[in-house]
Amino acid sequence: MHRAFAVATLTLLLAGATVGDASAVEGSQFREAVRSNGGIIASESPAASAAGLEVLDAGGNAMDAAVASTFALGVARPQSCGLGGGGFLVYRGANGEVAALDFRETAPAAVTPETFAGQGLYKTFTGHTTVGVPGTVAGMQEALDSYGTIGLTDAIAPAEKLAREGFEVPKSLSEEMGNHVSRLRLFPETAEQFLVGGEEPYPEGSILVQPRLAETLALISKQGPNAFYEGYIAESIVEEMENESSFEGDEGLMTADDLASYRAVWREPLIGDYRGREVITMPPPTSGGIAVVEMLNILEGFDLASEGQSSADTLHLLAEAQRLAFADRNEYVADPDFVDVPTEQLTDKDYAESRGAEIDPEQAAAHKAGDLNEAGQSPGEDENTEGSTTHLSVIDADGNAVALTCTIEQTFGSAVVAEDTGILLNNELTDFTGPGTANEPEPGKRPRSSISPTIVVESGEPALVVGAAGGAQIIMGSLLAIVNTVDFGLDPAQAIDAERLDAQSETKMNLEQGRVSPQALADLTARGHTIERREGEYAKLPRVQAAGTDPDTGERLAATDPRSGEPASVGQGGASQGERDSLPKTGGPPLLCLVGTPLSRWLAVCR
Ligand code: GLU
Repeated sequence: MHRAFAVATLTLLLAGATVGDASAVEGSQFREAVRSNGGIIASESPAASAAGLEVLDAGGNAMDAAVASTFALGVARPQSCGLGGGGFLVYRGANGEVAALDFRETAPAAVTPETFAGQGLYKTFTGHTTVGVPGTVAGMQEALDSYGTIGLTDAIAPAEKLAREGFEVPKSLSEEMGNHVSRLRLFPETAEQFLVGGEEPYPEGSILVQPRLAETLALISKQGPNAFYEGYIAESIVEEMENESSFEGDEGLMTADDLASYRAVWREPLIGDYRGREVITMPPPTSGGIAVVEMLNILEGFDLASEGQSSADTLHLLAEAQRLAFADRNEYVADPDFVDVPTEQLTDKDYAESRGAEIDPEQAAAHKAGDLNEAGQSPGEDENTEGSTTHLSVIDADGNAVALTCTIEQTFGSAVVAEDTGILLNNELTDFTGPGTANEPEPGKRPRSSISPTIVVESGEPALVVGAAGGAQIIMGSLLAIVNTVDFGLDPAQAIDAERLDAQSETKMNLEQGRVSPQALADLTARGHTIERREGEYAKLPRVQAAGTDPDTGERLAATDPRSGEPASVGQGGASQGERDSLPKTGGPPLLCLVGTPLSRWLAVCR
């Protein structure tokens, strides 16, 4: 018997409980949460966490740290996030103020419902046609303007240093370079930036220096978002789009007007409640918040705590709630600026009760969307089920909290680096679904997302600050963390360690089976679930990062998912999930200055 399993079993028996009740059967890769009496950061990049920590230690707040970490992620976790991408964030101030920022990428004006209906390089989720207008720079400026205390220059400084001096390539990045080597080799500028000699992945522990990206960051730091949306960088991106591509079906669509008209948008956060806790999450154009709230509302009608964690009854209810919510999500959720999304109905408690009544306790079912009388919709399931992306959760010493998920869509996005900028561009437009669906491509529209940054508040404190990567699996990443926290009393580390379930459609069920009993598995099969994933304890996705508050001590907790490459969560006062000395070492002294490059001509000072 696994040691952690044995200990948990013994503890439960001593406590008079039976296995299968509210328990935390920790897996073999369980990562203990860091604890701090100051601020904490959960992320899956040691370099990004260190960047945020530096800002917290210098007196910055949670938003300052989240923005600094986001810029650093773009350098040190370039496969997931960056200046060429976008994302969503949910904020809750210690004073109770809440906000939600949409810095999602946007379709260029030239996009039509048919743009992705034919054949072309875009069918491989690669190349210029897939690129949406990036939102990260506008979003980070908005976030700082509204809730930060530092300026863009200070927030960018750690990222710029990482790009200029380099950082040790972690195993996760080296492996992804290897997995995507053939895509990275398609475009010379990309190959030069991310492959040794333009050919081979950087080995783990080698130093990756990105001088062009450093120059770009310096320019934004000095001139602000205008440099990105209207200045030199915009010109370079447009030039990249206009370059004739050697691949069929790889037309660049983005124009100077598309970039100049980009705006990050503050949206009304979606507020739910689950068993007396407040749930603050992201409204459309992501489907994540609606689906999370709808599922929680459905599940509230059932006593999961009595059924027991990992029991067949609980897993059955989770799967059925997901299939119901996903049928609604696929049919109704898209960019609210283009489609009348029935958000209120989908997140209504009475609606959830009626949906919950459709669940047969003994039989798995494929569910249809509720009849909400919305015109002209048809189901749009995601074609792209895997994804990259990365999430970070921050709580500062005062209790301000940020859940932020940033993305360039798939691993290494479109695989196109815009000429002379070091900016790896997203392939977010592949998140649109087919013509005739609510989420069809249209000019200026934001593709539906699954990103689900969520803050759960209990007794006035951020009990859980959570979000995930992993395509449409993101949604269950956040949902399960919430259920495990609220129904089963787990701390953030245990809540994200526990087995994952994902049941998007038909009667299929992806399940990490390692910590589910053979009896429960047999029971689920007998109820008609087709259990598809047989990886054992941990699959690859979704990767969930979580922070929270210990209700007994008031300490802040942060944990990196065991499914993420490197333990990377940190807290003020020296708390770290990894060894302190495994936090990023930069690549050492040579200060690079690209004298003579077009970018450095735009910079008054070359540092
Ligand atoms: N593009 C995806 C979304 O917004 C996230 C990327 C991923 O799949 O991890 O839903």
